[in-house]
Amino acid sequence: MQDDKQPVQTNFIRKIIESDLDNNPNFPEIITRFPPEPNGYLHIGHAKSICLNFGLAKEFGGLCNLRFDDTNPEKENTEYVESIKQDVKWLGYDWEDRLYFASDYFQKLYDFAVELIKHDKAYVDGLSGEEIHEYRGTLTEPGKNSPWRNREIQENLDLFERMRNGEFDEGSYVLRAKIDMRSPNINMRDPVLYRIRKAAHHRTGDKWKIYPMYDYAHCLSDALEYITHSVCTLEFEDHRALYDWIIDNLQTPSRPYQYEFARLNLDYTVLSKRKLISLVNEGFVNGWDDPRMPTISGFRRRGFTSSSIRKFCEVIGVTKNDTRIDPVVIETVLRDELGETTQRRMAVLDPLKVVIENYPDTTEQLEAMNHPQKPEMGTRKIPFSKTVYIEKDDFMEDAPKKFFRLSPGREVRLKYAYLITCTDVIKNDQGEIIELRCNYDPDSRGGNSPDGRKVKGTIHWVAEDGAVEAEVRLFDRMFTSAMPDKEEDWRADFNDDSKQINNTSLLEPSLKTADKAERFQFERLGYFCADSVDHSSESPVFNRIVTLRDTWAKVSKAR
Ligand code: ATP
Ligand code: MG
Repeated sequence: MQDDKQPVQTNFIRKIIESDLDNNPNFPEIITRFPPEPNGYLHIGHAKSICLNFGLAKEFGGLCNLRFDDTNPEKENTEYVESIKQDVKWLGYDWEDRLYFASDYFQKLYDFAVELIKHDKAYVDGLSGEEIHEYRGTLTEPGKNSPWRNREIQENLDLFERMRNGEFDEGSYVLRAKIDMRSPNINMRDPVLYRIRKAAHHRTGDKWKIYPMYDYAHCLSDALEYITHSVCTLEFEDHRALYDWIIDNLQTPSRPYQYEFARLNLDYTVLSKRKLISLVNEGFVNGWDDPRMPTISGFRRRGFTSSSIRKFCEVIGVTKNDTRIDPVVIETVLRDELGETTQRRMAVLDPLKVVIENYPDTTEQLEAMNHPQKPEMGTRKIPFSKTVYIEKDDFMEDAPKKFFRLSPGREVRLKYAYLITCTDVIKNDQGEIIELRCNYDPDSRGGNSPDGRKVKGTIHWVAEDGAVEAEVRLFDRMFTSAMPDKEEDWRADFNDDSKQINNTSLLEPSLKTADKAERFQFERLGYFCADSVDHSSESPVFNRIVTLRDTWAKVSKAR
């Protein structure tokens, strides 16, 4: 990885690990894990967890496992497994040979459950789901015991085995921990550990008819993998007591501890898998990797670098307070990086034809710098001819004094080319400007003023000769409100203008050989990348990754 500098700030989890190591010379090797459920694609929130878990392991010379928490067969599949592996790798992290699945532990988890039953710490309950809910009580009222709570151990063992063998219907029985129905923590009121599910699992097929609950499977998977610090998001804080109870009541190979941090929330988007699935399935976007999506694959296709995402995760920090982050933060990190690393190119998105009347009928090759501050990035040739195209909004017929671009009688610099003066404006029958006539100063080659006269404006252009036609996709915020999640009908705030397809663009010839996913700065327009799926040299397709400056603030105020 290129950006392995010292962390910009410390965080409370790092401090916990430091103090564990300081206080115990025999503290085992630090092992963390990233535990996604394969029920959707990873999003930028997951990146925060990935960077934290893999980052801590690396920093303390330890290991981080990738573990699929695959205990819900109905919602999970191998497409998600593969996409998650690809995304973690792309982010720059390596689980080496430590790719695990909770489903690999199903037999061990079952054996642990039998242990709990034998120690009278778990029982098979015959209450229905609704009754269990009713018996659980509320935050202010204690729950009450199930009539099946005091079943004989032998009978529990027998029923649990028959649950496993598929003898009972879904919902007829569950295995519950025997803890305390009066506990102030509802998670401790005899939580369900296993339920019957007759669904095929993407890895274990029809072998299992019962599946462990997340709270039960997770802590034991941690213990089986010798995880030292099990880092998760704050919604699991109230589950920690159950985590500890399960570990403390079983003979596990190791004793992991759980720590919680605040999840990432990003403005103008949604980060719940359920909602992201709806956006895909209901056709709001073109798949999980639609460049508007806050998924890792969406960011990748849009043209974000993995280093900018890692840097973003470092910048936002890790705390216990729920915060919302403006996407400007990640865009700024990206801009700073791309400003340094990308080569400059010329492209015109909304072309206006300019005929330079005193220019001969030839094409010459002019030299342009690939990066204005970095001569070491070299130069390239761009053709210049009698007809060039400029951006429509770089011309104004009745321009105010402060308009430093082109207007009748005024002079402007075509970057790396010549100074030109507009002599005539040609309109169609509807009165729309369709062409400009200009003269150029032959002594201003390279865009230099030959006699020291001041020419304030510099604009970009593409010569007709060799111009490459392209489709350019312009993306904007996916939602018009900062917190669509908070709205009752979150879909209503979907930004219908979030994707615009531009088919008028002209690019300088060198862009014809751009590789898929290659990034550039288009002078004065922003950062763009050749689409990793649809781009080819025959029909180029570029995505705008981000504009040169934050334009959203202006747009959203005007709404
Ligand atoms: P969702 O709530 O979107 O369905 P999830 O939390 O159920 O996501 P998991 O696959 O269980 O998704 O998440 C894997 C890990 O990523 C968990 O440890 C979870 O805490 C963490 N994680 C998920 N969302 C975020 C987020 N927004 N910010 C930080 N970490 C997150
Ligand atoms: Mg989860």
